[in-house]
Amino acid sequence: MPNLTKSKIMAYRQCPKRLWLEIHKPELRDDSGAQMAFAAGNQVGAAARSYFDPKQKGTFIDIHALGHSEAIRYSSELLTKGEGPVFEAGLFAAGALAYADVMLPSRWDSKAHWRMIEVKSSTKVHDHYRDDLAIQAFIASEAGVSLASTSIAYIDNGFTYTRNDYYGEMGYSGLFKVLDLTEETTERFEEVREWITRAQEIAQQPVEPEVETGKHCTKPYACSFCSYCNRDKAVPDFPLSSLPRLHHKRRAVIEQSGIDDLRNVPDDMLNVLQQRVKECSASGIPYYDAEGAAAALRNHTYPAYFLDFETISFAVPIWLMTQPYSKLPFQYSIHTVHPDGEMQHDGFLDLAGLDPSQDCAIQLIKDCGVQGPIFAYNAGFESGVIRGLAERFPDLAPKLQGIIERIVDLLPVVRNNYYHPSQHGSWSIKAVLPALCPELSYDTLNGVNNGGMAQEAFLEAINPVTHAERKQQIREQLNAYCKLDTFAMVRIWQVFKGIPATQDL
Ligand code: SF4
Repeated sequence: MPNLTKSKIMAYRQCPKRLWLEIHKPELRDDSGAQMAFAAGNQVGAAARSYFDPKQKGTFIDIHALGHSEAIRYSSELLTKGEGPVFEAGLFAAGALAYADVMLPSRWDSKAHWRMIEVKSSTKVHDHYRDDLAIQAFIASEAGVSLASTSIAYIDNGFTYTRNDYYGEMGYSGLFKVLDLTEETTERFEEVREWITRAQEIAQQPVEPEVETGKHCTKPYACSFCSYCNRDKAVPDFPLSSLPRLHHKRRAVIEQSGIDDLRNVPDDMLNVLQQRVKECSASGIPYYDAEGAAAALRNHTYPAYFLDFETISFAVPIWLMTQPYSKLPFQYSIHTVHPDGEMQHDGFLDLAGLDPSQDCAIQLIKDCGVQGPIFAYNAGFESGVIRGLAERFPDLAPKLQGIIERIVDLLPVVRNNYYHPSQHGSWSIKAVLPALCPELSYDTLNGVNNGGMAQEAFLEAINPVTHAERKQQIREQLNAYCKLDTFAMVRIWQVFKGIPATQDL
């Protein structure tokens, strides 16, 4: 029987075909986007080590340096002797292999007993974490490790980072909540034994199991083999997924009737917006209520501002007085259109690596002036970021609150008055722009052309090992990207108001 890692057993739990493909055809994976999640996991692991081992007496089992065999042997030695804490302890038994995030010595009688803690970077305990812990505890138990308890540690998003760690004093006490699942875990051991047996059988099959794609392909994780599994599927030109806000129950009813193209869905199953998408998709003719769009903007006077933020979130806060996963602005772009039609561009971008929030708030107050609408696209995001700044800097709060009160959301204006079939059910600015303002395109940008790339670029720029030239290149790419976001809003606003383009980007 093949030996399987915990992640392979979890892959089997999601889908037997996924397990088989991971073993026999790993080259078919599409892992784009995994890098950020991997970095967050590393930060949380390091924070957990300081949290559970404040005196730094523990041993970190470095799998990459030791290799699997030596990592397991060395872990076994420490666990038998009761020498801990042990981090990433290698466990091997019953044809399965796992690395336990945290093993804390509990007590010693004739034998060492351990508290096993699995650390997660999420702020909730998901069901699949419980499976994960059960597998790990089962392997430990089969390997002869006596477990005093099994728990999941997860991020407390109410935690505020209040202490500096420059002097070796990590300020992460309170970062984690710990949920004890000892009883539940132990009760599931026979279930886990069956998973491992079945997973081993699947792993040994000469041909891949037949499994249809479905909801399980995205839960609990987005499967990396979706492109491969869907390779022969005919995708309709206008799939049901392009119907905005289609409730999953209604979608299931439609699918059960054999309809997979939104153009064939009966009108009485669709709301007004969905019917509009259907009609435009069927006719190929865009919908544009020019009067409605102009009327929605008529009462907003000059100067008109157009604002967009780029933010970063850390599972483990690195800046004082910030919380896990808070959206912290490191950049904004703001275009201003004055009453005479003249356009001005300002912006903020801080790549120094220190908390940019206060400087950002001060400059934002300056750049937003004292009157005039501030347009944002999906404005709840911009309002939330500014509200976060106001909470952190009470002396700036009145002025920041004044900015929030001037914010106008451009997204519902667009959604209510414009739709082009090429949008495929999306009113994101990147979907609307090519249809409404074809002279502008995100495709012409170098390096950074979406929010995720902006975050990755920011993290690279603040990394001390990043060379000055590369940092400058990132600065230019971020500036170009964020500037296009607000210029795109200006152009959409001009089209809706019937104003010709006054200036190029
Ligand atoms: S895409 Fe879906 S069906 Fe294919 S391996 Fe992944 S989970 Fe299984």
